[in-house]
Amino acid sequence: MEGDNYYMNKNITMTFLEKDYNLLQKHLFKDGNEQAAYLLCSLSQTEIETRFLVKEVIQVEDKHILKNNNMGIYYTCDSYMPVIAKAKSNQLCFIMVHCHPCGISEFSDIDNEQEIKLLRYAYNRINNKLHGSMIFSDSNTFTGRILNYESERYTSISKIRVLGDTYKFINSVNSDPLKTINKDIFNRNILAFGEDLLKILQNIHIGVVGCGGTGSAVIEELCRLGVGKLTLIDDDKIENTNITRIHGSNLSDVGKPKVTLMQEMIGKINIGTNVIAINEKLDNPNTAKKLRDCDLIFSCVDYTHFTRSILNQIAIAYYIPLIDAGIKFDSKKGILNDIFGRIDVVLPNDRCLFCSGIIDSNMISAELMTNEEYIKLKEQGYVPELPKDKVQVIPYNSLIGSYAVIEMIQLLTNFKGKNIKHIIYKFMANKTLTIEPDFDSECICNSEKLIGCGDIEPFLLLSWAGVK
Ligand SMILES: [Zn+2]
Ligand SMILES: [Zn+2]
Repeated sequence: MEGDNYYMNKNITMTFLEKDYNLLQKHLFKDGNEQAAYLLCSLSQTEIETRFLVKEVIQVEDKHILKNNNMGIYYTCDSYMPVIAKAKSNQLCFIMVHCHPCGISEFSDIDNEQEIKLLRYAYNRINNKLHGSMIFSDSNTFTGRILNYESERYTSISKIRVLGDTYKFINSVNSDPLKTINKDIFNRNILAFGEDLLKILQNIHIGVVGCGGTGSAVIEELCRLGVGKLTLIDDDKIENTNITRIHGSNLSDVGKPKVTLMQEMIGKINIGTNVIAINEKLDNPNTAKKLRDCDLIFSCVDYTHFTRSILNQIAIAYYIPLIDAGIKFDSKKGILNDIFGRIDVVLPNDRCLFCSGIIDSNMISAELMTNEEYIKLKEQGYVPELPKDKVQVIPYNSLIGSYAVIEMIQLLTNFKGKNIKHIIYKFMANKTLTIEPDFDSECICNSEKLIGCGDIEPFLLLSWAGVK
């Protein structure tokens, strides 16, 4: 077997959808006795993190349990044989889980002795995947490990993400407790939302795609909220028409890449945010793959449907929540009808930007055509009109950027008590509309193949052939 295929980064994490996590916890702590389950996971492997994405939770049923009490569990091989077979046929990782209702968050000698046999078996059956085990002593306390096939040593799972209506991070009992840095500076934020949110923010990695009017507002606010790490993607350079709305810019910045300007702005603020600045277009798999290390992504791109579809797909395939912001000036013959702002929150296992009509597959095709193809088909009336120069005015950019950041705070704290996925602000009418669009069961967001698929070929199951 090739050693490379078993490469794993030292930073191992696990991401659950909230519904699966709740199902698992309900099963594990149903009666005070030890219970067990299996997780089938896909993988997202980068240079800095190996992320397991939980696709399915399979409970060990009572009929397979030989004996269990509050100090131990013994079950038959009938419980795991079909699960390992399923992991093999779907090319997924196998994780065995059990609980310690007694409260001890360590693997016992019996656990160590039994688990290695089963994990060796999993490695022999399922090639090119990683397998391991976890223990929960309560629903917020865990330890976990992945077996390295060749060395037969374990690497610890450091953190769990649980993503649903709220977004939770649970650190392993073996991880160092999170520290709050610069409590003084963030005093006013702590007074509003407490120190726990600051700890999360200081340890979070956020992606922002698009560093224009809206993006620069989002970036400045994330920095001032104490976000620890930002990945910024934009291939544009500052033009003189941008100075009226890009936060941190001045006329001498004309010609500078927007991501560089943002990096400089954050450097000047200097309150602990690290930046990865990527001066590239998102529309290629190598750039888009760099977002896999993020915990959350903001989409502040212009009207491009293809870019939005990539971000939409990353949210579903990698369980990374996406907050998409948009503005539209609605005018006809020089008369302004209204100014619209829009925020969409895309979570896996929920309706996506295609369902809410924000992305249109005909527009994607039109965007990916060559100029000649486009002109020809447009004359024949086959393709939609691509948007021309857009009106942009700073207060609306900044406002919608702030609304987007507020939705991130909502996801991390649930301070509103309810997550709204699609919000329209009508600025002239002074109205806010919260609409839940219909869930389209035919849509890609309902595709078992795409949901939590992680690293598969082609990346995001998208055809990248037409990309220039
Ligand atoms: Zn045990
Ligand atoms: Zn959808």
